[in-house]
Amino acid sequence: VGIAMAGLITKSLYVLFKRCPRLFALTVKKPELRDSADDGFAKHLAEQGIRVGRIAQEAFKAKGAIEVASFPIKKAVVDTARAVLSGCAIIEASFLRGRAFVRADILNLPESELIEIKSCTRIKDEHLDDVAIQLHVIRKHGLKVEKASLGLIDKTFVLKSPKTPLSDLITRVDITSMVEAVLPEIGPNLKDIEKLIKGKGTPARVIGQHCFSPTPCPFSGYCLKNCAAHTILNLRRDGKKKFELHASGIRNLSDIPAYVTLTPFQKLQKTAEKQRSAVIDRAKIKTYLGSLKYPLYFLDFEAFMEAVPRYKGAHPYEQIPFQASVHIQSSPDAKLEHHSFLHDKDTDPRKALAAFLARTIGNSGSVIVYHASYERGRIEDLMKISPRHHFDLKSINDRLWDLEEPFSRGWYLDPRFEGSTSIKYVLPVLVPDLSYKKLAIQNGTNAYISYLEMIAKDTPPAKRKSIYQSLLEYCGLDTLAMVRILSVLKEEVK
Ligand code: SF4
Repeated sequence: VGIAMAGLITKSLYVLFKRCPRLFALTVKKPELRDSADDGFAKHLAEQGIRVGRIAQEAFKAKGAIEVASFPIKKAVVDTARAVLSGCAIIEASFLRGRAFVRADILNLPESELIEIKSCTRIKDEHLDDVAIQLHVIRKHGLKVEKASLGLIDKTFVLKSPKTPLSDLITRVDITSMVEAVLPEIGPNLKDIEKLIKGKGTPARVIGQHCFSPTPCPFSGYCLKNCAAHTILNLRRDGKKKFELHASGIRNLSDIPAYVTLTPFQKLQKTAEKQRSAVIDRAKIKTYLGSLKYPLYFLDFEAFMEAVPRYKGAHPYEQIPFQASVHIQSSPDAKLEHHSFLHDKDTDPRKALAAFLARTIGNSGSVIVYHASYERGRIEDLMKISPRHHFDLKSINDRLWDLEEPFSRGWYLDPRFEGSTSIKYVLPVLVPDLSYKKLAIQNGTNAYISYLEMIAKDTPPAKRKSIYQSLLEYCGLDTLAMVRILSVLKEEVK
């Protein structure tokens, strides 16, 4: 936004324009309308991006690359021009052409190559736009840069020891032909952006997948505020269909014309909205509940993942579980027992977590989780990390019972779930007195970012203590929520 205020078109702003011209215009002209959401996750992603970028740049620096200081911009541009004369690789090479200002992560002049570093594992469309505008501006300066590459995270990288060179984490992918294909649109797009900046107002709203992905639009609170009641946007999966229906003027699920093909789940959504109440298949729920075996163990994990693995044997973006909550109900009338595990140091938590599960969960009875594929995956990982608990962990995995199933299979569908089967949507409808809203930590992403803050060495002890407490409350509520949701289902089929 700072650079937007200076009237420059950066590569980030260009990518925003490609996603949605209105998003670009709001960012530049009305930044005060941005949602005041907690941006902890965005900050975490940005920090990871910077860290990965530095790893790649340091590797070039070690081979003699020149680094240009980023600010002030005018000086960066002049210093880049001087560095170009050396013919060396340049880090943070800065170029200005009209309003277009680009800063290349690495301009590898000896190989006539532009390298953009991304802390992700695959090529995305936005990367091509990001690199294309850089190449456009750099070539306008008369520089011969023939090759465009992305430095991406190599999924197969393993941190074998603290001495493993982190530069091995990044793999270079040639994207020249893909970038050349989008280059011709840069000039006309820059002209359109110029008109947008000089013109009055902002472009009209066009609602689509771009409003929600790859991340929710930061202006959605403002821009979509009159869509809160447009239930057509809750149509499960198949984004294209719902946006087409919305664009054609259909606002409610119940108004979907009969000729539109719907999945069985979507048909149930339409029915639920028409009858303004939940659609419940009691027979199917009853049969499913009949497969439960006491004692019941309600289990939930929290895990974090990072681009740069921090523990021996870990891969980039490997899920590292650091917390678990287990509620136990040994018989239908027994009092609930609660056990929790929360690792509190910056050391690999997985072996201790495996031991906790092995001693807390007995070898008979159902292990109730919500969205079983996630917990199954984490337990399989723990089996590899802690072979001594292999038998107990396998037994847990063999007894997983997924509480999401009655919702994801459409046996219980309430219009107030808004097309979601996540516990965060199901709980407030089925158990309104139990809420995440009162907690300091309210979702899994928030939990793992808070955890990373808790174990960071510069976090003050008082802050660590309060995060520790908030994490216990959050994960504990996840399993208590499952206990209460199961009770509602049992009542429903009594
Ligand atoms: S909510 Fe959608 S239409 Fe509005 S600015 Fe964001 S991306 Fe564009």
